[in-house]
Amino acid sequence: MKKAQLAVRMGTSVAVVAGCLSGAACSASTSALTPSTPAPVSSSAAVPASPSTPPTPSAEPTTASPSPTGPPKFSAKVSRVTRKQLPYSWRPGCPVPVQDLRLITMSYWGFDDKPHTGELVVNKDGTDAIVNVFGRLYDWRWPIYKMQLVDAYKGSDFDSIEADNTSAFNCRPATGSSSWSQHAYGRAVDINPRENPYVSADGSLAHKNARKFGTRPLDAPGVINPGDRVVKAFAKVGWGWGGIWSGAKDFQHFSESGG
Ligand SMILES: [Zn+2]
Repeated sequence: MKKAQLAVRMGTSVAVVAGCLSGAACSASTSALTPSTPAPVSSSAAVPASPSTPPTPSAEPTTASPSPTGPPKFSAKVSRVTRKQLPYSWRPGCPVPVQDLRLITMSYWGFDDKPHTGELVVNKDGTDAIVNVFGRLYDWRWPIYKMQLVDAYKGSDFDSIEADNTSAFNCRPATGSSSWSQHAYGRAVDINPRENPYVSADGSLAHKNARKFGTRPLDAPGVINPGDRVVKAFAKVGWGWGGIWSGAKDFQHFSESGG
């Protein structure tokens, strides 16, 4: 609560693609996907368009193509967004113009042990970092409960967290502050907010359903622990973790600035 730069979240979306990291864990559970358009299968985690690549105009969710030997490889598609796609998370006066935001439609591994496609909206300068990390999470079969734009919750950070939704862009102030959150710039992401709650300096949590996840280390699916591979994957792309803040801890939060 102390820091102005504390937590905040944004809406986001992601899509899919997956890849068996080590063949071992690859089972043939592809039914969770909604097969439709074959996804542009990429050989490694990311592939999205960099700022220099002309973004695709519309954001049709990519679908992973099932392979006979196991789940689809990780896939990610980066596209431009329109204001219409962000009816609640963006509004005039936000610190970032809609043109600077991108929709990432990418694979994620679910708590049901199946591949899914989700959406995250991030700043155009953060797409490579996000796709890189989420590609690794997918390959690790590291579970994510849900990944929808915060617009699905009418821009409500509380409701998105309550639903254990992983999201990024949301034009809102930082938790307990009047300054913009890093989420308002599309430069922060919140992962599994139920399993990784925001814990105030006095140890209290705003969400009842997260109470058993208020301490670290904690051994449970989708939980981020100090120094673990998730924290390291983000560190590798230069993003910091809110779980190491002094005072309040934001275990779900990663940002480009570390704040
Ligand atoms: Zn956050």
